[in-house]
This record gives sequence, C-alpha cells and structure tokens, in this order.
Amino acid sequence: MSVISYIDGVFYGGSNFPIPSHMNFGRLMVDKLLENKNKVALISGDTGEKISYVDLAKKIVNVATALSKLGVRQGDVVAICSENRIEFYVAIIAVYYIGAVATFLNMAYTKDEVIHTVKISKPTFAFLSPSTQKLHYDTLKNHTTITKFIVFGDSATKEISFDKLTLDDPNGNVMPADFYGRAQTALILYSSGTTGLPKGAKITHLNLIATTFQTLSLPDNSRPVLTIAPWCNTMGIMTLNGFLRSGKTVVFLKRFDENLFLQVIEKYKVGEVLIAPPVLILLSKSPNVSKYDLSSVYMIHSGGAPLDSDVIALVKARLPNLRNVTQGYGMTESTGSIATELDAAPKQGSVGFVTEGIVVKIVDVETRAILGPNKRGEICLNGLVLFDGYIGKERGDDFDEEGFFKTGDIGYYDEDGFFFIVDRIKELIKYKAWQVSPAELEAVVLLHDAVKDVGVIGTPDSEAGELPTAFVVKKPGSNVTEKDILDFVGTKVSPWKRLRGGVKFIEEIPKTGSGKILRRKLRELLPKNVKSK
Ligand code: AMP
Repeated sequence: MSVISYIDGVFYGGSNFPIPSHMNFGRLMVDKLLENKNKVALISGDTGEKISYVDLAKKIVNVATALSKLGVRQGDVVAICSENRIEFYVAIIAVYYIGAVATFLNMAYTKDEVIHTVKISKPTFAFLSPSTQKLHYDTLKNHTTITKFIVFGDSATKEISFDKLTLDDPNGNVMPADFYGRAQTALILYSSGTTGLPKGAKITHLNLIATTFQTLSLPDNSRPVLTIAPWCNTMGIMTLNGFLRSGKTVVFLKRFDENLFLQVIEKYKVGEVLIAPPVLILLSKSPNVSKYDLSSVYMIHSGGAPLDSDVIALVKARLPNLRNVTQGYGMTESTGSIATELDAAPKQGSVGFVTEGIVVKIVDVETRAILGPNKRGEICLNGLVLFDGYIGKERGDDFDEEGFFKTGDIGYYDEDGFFFIVDRIKELIKYKAWQVSPAELEAVVLLHDAVKDVGVIGTPDSEAGELPTAFVVKKPGSNVTEKDILDFVGTKVSPWKRLRGGVKFIEEIPKTGSGKILRRKLRELLPKNVKSK
C-alpha cells in the first residue's frame, strides 16, 4: 500500500495505481486476467465447476463481440439477474468491455421491486440464469423496457442461449470501447443513500478502476479465497474484481449454507474468507465448526456492517491458524472500501486506515467545520472512487460545497490515523449487512387499507445488527393486527426487508413542523433493554 497523507484535517489514501488512458474497466480486467494464464480463476463451491484465467478472458471477449452483434451499443443498459455463477462475471465484464452499462437485479426481489428497479435504470437487454428466468421472466417481459433476454447455459427456450455467445467468432473480435471522459457510467447499483427510496447510484469506469487497485487482501496467492457475498451487491462484486485483478483463485457459493461453507474451506484449503458479520457470529458459536479441518484459514475479511470485537476474539479462539479478522468499512457510493484494517497492528474496534483512491474528512454535523483526531463527526468522502451521483437527482443535498459526499455515518480517527465508526445519522437500516430503506418500507405499509400513518426504524439486534420495526397508526375503527401487517409486507418486499422487529401500534407518529418523521422519538419508544443507536 502506498503512503497515506494527512493535510489540514483531510486524509488522502495512497494512490500508486495506474489509470489506463482508455479508462475502460472491462478492457483493464481482460488484460489483467490474461496475465494469469492457466491458473484457476473461479471455482463454484456448489457444483465444482472451474474456469482458468485465460478461458475467462476469452469468454468475456467472445460474449462482448456477440453482444455488439446483437445490437448492444455504448451507453445501453443491460440488466443481469443471477445467483453467483461463472457466467454472471463473464456477462458483467463483457458489458463494460463494449461500453454498455450493467445493472444488477437481486434475484430475491419481489415483482414490485423488480419493476421499481428497472424503472430507474431502464435496461433494454437482460441476462438471466435458468433459476431467475423462472422467477422473473414474465415480470421483466411484460412490465419493463427489456426486449431481449439471454439465458445462462444452453437455453432450451426461445431466448438467446449464453453458451452460443461464448463461441469464437470467425470474423474476429469487437474492439473495446475507449472513453475520453472520467464520468462514463459502467454500473448502476441501488442505494437509498442517506434518505428516501432506493436510487440508482452511477458507478463510473474510473471508479471501478480505482477500487480494483485497493489493497483489500493479502499478497499471498498460494491459497484460494472464499467469498459468499452476492455479486449483485457492492461488497460482493468489488471484492471479486479486486481478488481476480490480483491473481487469486476465488471459490464462491451461490448463497450461504453453513455446512457447504465449512466443507468448501476444507476441500479447497481456503486461506482467506470474505464474509459479513452475521456469518462470523455463527462461526463464533456453531458446533459444526469443530467437525471440519479449517486449519488452512489464515485471514477473515468482514464488511458491510459493524463487527463486534468480542466476536473476533471468539472466532480467533476457534480457528487454529487464523492470524486475524479484519474489518472493512465501505458503501455503494464509495464503490467499495473507504477504510480497511490491514494485517499489521490492528486496533480493537477500528475499521483501519483510509484505502487507496479515497479522500476523507470528518466534519462537525452542525457547523460543517473539519475536525481533528478523536472528535466525532460526519464522515465525508471524495476521490477517484466516489460515485457520480444518483440517476435523476440533483447533487445538491448529498454533496457539500467542496464536492465531498456526506455519508451519514458518524466516526472519528485517532492520533495514529485509525478510523472508528460509531453511529449513523442517515435513515438507513442494515439487516445482516443488507440495506433496508425506512422510506420504502413506510410506503409499502401505507398501502395497507387499515393504516393511517407509519414510521419505520431499526431495532438494535446483536445477531442481525438491526431489525426493521414499524410504528403504525391504525385508521379509526380498524382492528388490524400485527400479523396482518407482517403478512402484507412479507408479500411485497425481499426477505431481508421484512418487519422482523415487529409492528407497534401508537396513536400518532412524532413529526417535525414540516412533516418529517422524528425517528429519534420513535427509538425512545423501544423497550429499555434494547440498546438504541
Ligand atoms: P452499502 O451501501 O449497502 O454497502 O451500505 C453502506 C453502509 O453500511 C455504510 O454507510 C455504513 O452505515 C454501513 N457499514 C458498512 N461497513 C461498516 C462497518 N465496518 N462498520 C459500521 N458500519 C458499516
């Protein structure tokens, strides 16, 4: 890692990485993949399927060529809806390669969520896996802008088969797109940011290039790394890019399954593991841990949500050769990591030092003045990894007058430059590292006939981080029950957004004069034994 500088209260993460003049992240990845020749790049822990670096690169270029022949043009948006699988990664990089824009639809989305998401990004092409074809094809075909579908595998349906696109084209390959500007969008991810409904965050090629050179993992490539984070999310996809850029063999799973996760570590002698805090909590307690040989694991990386120091100590005590559990702090809008704890000299509770490509200041929430060491304030971001704003939204409120993004996270750094995240002032709820937007859940609860008003907050929870909880005002005369509302919401949102913290009926939702929900007042209504944020 290159040297971090600190000038007038602003941290500048190291930046000794090359930015190619073509600024095409897809082309950069293909070049990097080719350097690793026949080494295994990806292994599916579910099926055992493998692909070498060179074959991955070839497939990407062939699919890029085929996409361009199918009429996908620079700037067209292409949706990808799939569980983690090799074709998913091929499709993403092929889309970047020709200058089209990728967007990911989470396979767990409900019909309403799929429609809402597609309305934001307006894709015209979609890649589906056979499983997501069953789940979402009808919705996508009948209710969205998507007209052409490509199905992973050798599709037996009338849609375009992915396998055919991977074959060599006798007429040669498409040339990668070149970009002259810094703001060429490569990817649209969904984030509610500090307030409101999920929005389309524009991630540029330059953002991806810069993020991929961040040092997130150890230089030792002799053992595979295991990732279970979904690639449709920031943490999953950005770390995958980084692992492959640095020549690691990556074992992946479609979804977390405890026994398979442990089996795969034993089978492939995995050295590094990337997981979110809830899996670490499970590792700290589960009796199954002692049934497998996990002696190969020397490093666990955790991200996406806060991690308790006690959990780290418990996990370390259970894995014989585990050197460390490191935490990363990041967000969609920073295209990944903002601070990372490196192997050397970790400090308890810290998320480590600012990462490459990041510029960070901590400011007083009221006065916006820059704060020095050990003073808590809002973390504000700038630098090459900072996203290019939300689709259709003015930059105004989200950025300060110097162009720094206001994260809505509260933290501080100590005299050695270690960062600590202590609170969140934005509306976001995090359930097991998944984003839950209170405004989105409020809009869903309000659709129920018996609901007059609602406010949603997160109830702190030691295992999940926070549990989405609704305070509901019933319409006069209604005898709606908690179960009625839970069932209603359950049919309309993805599993992680369900109201696991319950529904509490109250007389009135506390609001400011301008009608903004006073979430602080709602938190005061939670039972006293619950530690409020
Ligand atoms: P997302 O955009 O879904 O990755 O969510 C980003 C948000 O997750 C951040 O703004 C933080 O509020 C929270 N977060 C991520 N990593 C950490 C961490 N290590 N400690 C505390 N909060 C975190």
